[in-house]
Amino acid sequence: MRPYLLLTPGPLTTSETVKQVMMSDWCTWDEDYNVEIVEKIRQELVSLASSRPEEYTAVLMQGSGTFCVEAALNSVVRPDDFLLIAANGAYGKRMGTIADYHHLNHYLMQFDETQAVDPKEIDRYLSEHPEVTHVSVVHCETTTGVLNPLEAIASVVKRHGKVLIVDAMSSFGGVPIDMATLGIDFLISSANKCIQGVPGFGFVLARRSLLEKCKGVARSLSLDLYDQWDVMEKGHGKWRFTSPTHVVRAFMQALKELKEEGGVSARHARYCENHRRLVEGMRALHFQTLLPDSDQSPVITSFYYPTKDFNFKDFYRKLKEKGFVIYPGKISQADTFRIGNIGDVYPDDFVRLVETIKTLQLQ
Ligand SMILES: *Cc1c(COP(=O)(O)O)cnc(C)c1O
Repeated sequence: MRPYLLLTPGPLTTSETVKQVMMSDWCTWDEDYNVEIVEKIRQELVSLASSRPEEYTAVLMQGSGTFCVEAALNSVVRPDDFLLIAANGAYGKRMGTIADYHHLNHYLMQFDETQAVDPKEIDRYLSEHPEVTHVSVVHCETTTGVLNPLEAIASVVKRHGKVLIVDAMSSFGGVPIDMATLGIDFLISSANKCIQGVPGFGFVLARRSLLEKCKGVARSLSLDLYDQWDVMEKGHGKWRFTSPTHVVRAFMQALKELKEEGGVSARHARYCENHRRLVEGMRALHFQTLLPDSDQSPVITSFYYPTKDFNFKDFYRKLKEKGFVIYPGKISQADTFRIGNIGDVYPDDFVRLVETIKTLQLQ
């Protein structure tokens, strides 16, 4: 059932067992589904995200990850509020686009795509702009693979007493994060990234006391995070509109497999090893990484084209024939391609990948 491995950070390669559990149909309002699957998923997500689970709650939302980012921003930031968005890639900029669409008062603080977000710049801006009420940032910028210094950013934002919203789409489940210790108020991720489910919904983990106050804030019906949460809470796992039942069942299985692997720290260790094997092997073949090792996440790695006349399309096609699907680059300043390290993929897969690239180079 696997013509090739997806070395793309979402959708990614999932296990056979995750795919298998989608072979039965579930009734969207039946207790077997709501109580036994949806409620268990919500509890599990909160305990994965926070050492004080009682302070947090989970909302699942149909659609891709962006739907959840949009649901969160438009349901949490009020007309009189002011949102500071720190961006160093496409996903940070997308939060700016969402803020534009919903006419949120905001400022998009832009950093170079090859640099990490600088907490000192956020500190300076917050000192000079007391009107800011909320700060949002991407944890792992999948555009390049840079891992922003979440701990330092959270510490600055909390010192200024602002609400912190984190797009942890491509890191949650694969990089340890404790919302309670860091003081994160809203954290957004989706089914098809480090939890290793299939695409179809995302989720927002929220500080309960803040979400409770968000009734009527949203300017969208289907992306009303409060209303979605309210129906799920009162209905014990009921979704407001049609639920992606098969995807949710697959996600439940993926959570079980995360636990069996040893939880987030074990998965993080595997991703780091995947990344290490990849980078060591590629450097031995004279490929260079876009980022310095200090800013690099274990999620996705950007490499420069090895030569000016490098034919990415040809490289892509040949690798696909050999069983590996990779990603094109996503930045304008340099010619790059990207290789994802997450999913049901293991260090040996990266050893095989590097060997395959070596034989392509020799042709
Ligand atoms: C995947 C991803 C998203 C969501 O993208 P979708 O295409 O809407 O799923 C948002 N932010 C980051 C950092 C991501 O990696």
